Amino acid sequence: MTSTLGIPTTADLRSRAARALHALGADLPEPGKLPARTPITGGTLATLQYSDPSAVDAAITAADNVFREWRTVPAPRRAAVVRRLGELLVEHQAALADLVTLEAGKIGAEARGEVQEMIDVCEFAVGLSRQLYGRTIASERPGHRLSETWHPLGVVGVISAFNFPVAVWAWNTAIALVCGDTVVWKPSETTPLTALACHTLLRRAAVETGFDPGIHQLVQGGADVGRQLVDDHRIALLSATGSTRMGRTVAPRVAARFGRCLLELGGNNAAIVTPSADLELTTRAVVFSAAGTAGQRCTSLRRLIVHADIAGPLLERLDRAYRQLRVGDPFADGVLVGPLINGQAYQGMQAAIERARADYGELLCGGERVDVAGDESYYVRPAVLRMHAQTEVVREETFAPLLYVMTYRDFDLAIEMHNAVSQGLSSSIFTTDQREAERFLAPDGSDCGIANVNIGTSGAEIGGAFGGEKDTGGGRESGSDSWKAYMRRATNTVNYSSELPLAQGIVFG
Ligand code: NAD
Repeated sequence: MTSTLGIPTTADLRSRAARALHALGADLPEPGKLPARTPITGGTLATLQYSDPSAVDAAITAADNVFREWRTVPAPRRAAVVRRLGELLVEHQAALADLVTLEAGKIGAEARGEVQEMIDVCEFAVGLSRQLYGRTIASERPGHRLSETWHPLGVVGVISAFNFPVAVWAWNTAIALVCGDTVVWKPSETTPLTALACHTLLRRAAVETGFDPGIHQLVQGGADVGRQLVDDHRIALLSATGSTRMGRTVAPRVAARFGRCLLELGGNNAAIVTPSADLELTTRAVVFSAAGTAGQRCTSLRRLIVHADIAGPLLERLDRAYRQLRVGDPFADGVLVGPLINGQAYQGMQAAIERARADYGELLCGGERVDVAGDESYYVRPAVLRMHAQTEVVREETFAPLLYVMTYRDFDLAIEMHNAVSQGLSSSIFTTDQREAERFLAPDGSDCGIANVNIGTSGAEIGGAFGGEKDTGGGRESGSDSWKAYMRRATNTVNYSSELPLAQGIVFG
């Protein structure tokens, strides 16, 4: 390990967490057996109650009961809660961002960005509340009107991951609430204080707008608590964000009870860099996507597929940029790379580097641990590895700042290599050649849910639908028409004539 930078102690961070919670109206909880740990030092900030099966059952029952009334409130009126939540988030952006940094280790700018994303999705959901449009369809029968209406679905169970502890909750909850659903949230066991703060803000928003705060329920704990939501038939939609491993166990269980699932799972995102690319712009985008959030975004850039003729100059630029990245306390000015979430993430990264080297990969820079705050925290220099082939380790998602660089000569083969992984979340091409750009976006181009031109793989806006294909789970959240997953559709045929013509011209009797 190298270099020790000044870092606050766990006691300082504990006070900071207490101040943030207090500002958010959520004072330190009753101690319990769920620890809230900070990856900044590895110390414990507080302990919270772990929801036992009866508490989870009570939360689902409450959400189910409140739903009976909530679904009858007109959508534009339901939006009042979400509008107020957005206002509270604006007011408390700094305090909530502090908690995100404390529990997830994100640098300050990214943590504030994550809260901004919540504010943005609240605005989106408020507008959406007046646009839950159905269709009118031409009926084949005279004197008949055929239409579709959208109704609230029921209780939405939200299971979220550690790396977007607040934004993913907001994507789901803001949309679900205007759609007339109630929510039971099981956040990551790694970020329980952040969850408590969001829950407090939302319930306050409900009370202040004259609605039952029971529209939102929080249950805290690990996979066992999640499984209870998965298996409960009262959870009409289970929206689960996390690893593909988690999705593989969740999806068949929800399907077995004919529940609905919305899955946002792992990614293994790549960018193709073609000879005409603007290398300055490409370098900045690659560094943000691959090293930002210490490589712990589902959309982090993990594979770079570069034309052989420009690999040298691009790698030189990347090497220079990577060496300037400051690793350290995520609260400190100028730090761009905070800690990994835990020791397991660090060990996973080291194991991947070893496997890549055994595959004749060359470590170009980074990978070493940096001593910022002692043995219980895990800081690492973002790594770049040059690979001769897309071996098994490259095709896996390693949730750390690890970028594999490969070269190509034939553009069709580059697209083939791009798509030759099991995940299908985000993708980019860097080119100034319009034909290549359009080809990348065409049906036989990128097979991902997100395909970008001349921007990195991470950092999506909330207005578009977010999600990916293949092992990423196929779900779509946030903008566009993702709201349809949170509602049920009814097809209505109204006969306003005095005849009874049957469809398909059938004459009966
Ligand atoms: P994880 O799979 O370990 O945990 C995610 C959540 O699922 C947690 O709340 C956990 O308690 C719960 N869980 C785990 N096993 C479960 C089970 N069997 N039944 C019910 N619940 C269960 O993931 P993580 O380490 O918190 O997050 C990182 C992963 O999440 C990465 O793979 C990343 O790509 C993915 N992710 C995807 C998206 C997306 O939108 N596609 C967004 C963020 C993170």
